[in-house]
Amino acid sequence: MRRLSEEIQKCRLCGLCSGRKNPVVGEGNLDAALMLVGEAPGRTEDEMGRPFVGAAGQHLDRLLQHIGLDREDVYIGNVVKCRPPNNRRPRPEEIEACSPHLERQLEIIEPGVIAPMGNSSIGYLMARFGLKHAPIGRIHGRQFRADAPWGVVVLFSLYHPAAAIYTRDLERVMMEDFEDLGGLLRRMDPPSI
Ligand code: URA
Repeated sequence: MRRLSEEIQKCRLCGLCSGRKNPVVGEGNLDAALMLVGEAPGRTEDEMGRPFVGAAGQHLDRLLQHIGLDREDVYIGNVVKCRPPNNRRPRPEEIEACSPHLERQLEIIEPGVIAPMGNSSIGYLMARFGLKHAPIGRIHGRQFRADAPWGVVVLFSLYHPAAAIYTRDLERVMMEDFEDLGGLLRRMDPPSI
């Protein structure tokens, strides 16, 4: 991961490199059973070079704590490592260009559960594992089994943590989805929380 991180610091595979202060590689436990994957760094993440450290990150921390997890228990990354200008959504060609980095992170961590958060991440990861993408309102909190080179993985789709900041009603839905995610992790063999 250290070598990959050094490569990402120098990466120029897409135009987002020209506007970044810092790429955001990801952070957490390299042996994590759960890998959470967001969309792309925002302003605070770009400044600090760390994932989910702004308002969305505080919400993610609360959701993790709700099921007894700390950031150190999981690995947190993004589909795209550099901040898109004005926080626009990453473009398909940027996601494609950045995808080898995420692929290598998956191979290093070999998570049993991958939780894409938000549409960009769900879209990329569902397609990556040969699953059909559906609107997030229909598939959030659902589990999809898929084959990965390191074994069976469960994709567990989640709303993006920022969604609850803009839509208050989603707060409870996200809490329930995280409770189900916690249940899945406890039922794993061996249990991972
Ligand atoms: N939103 C994301 O998708 N990722 C981050 O790292 C921060 C905010």
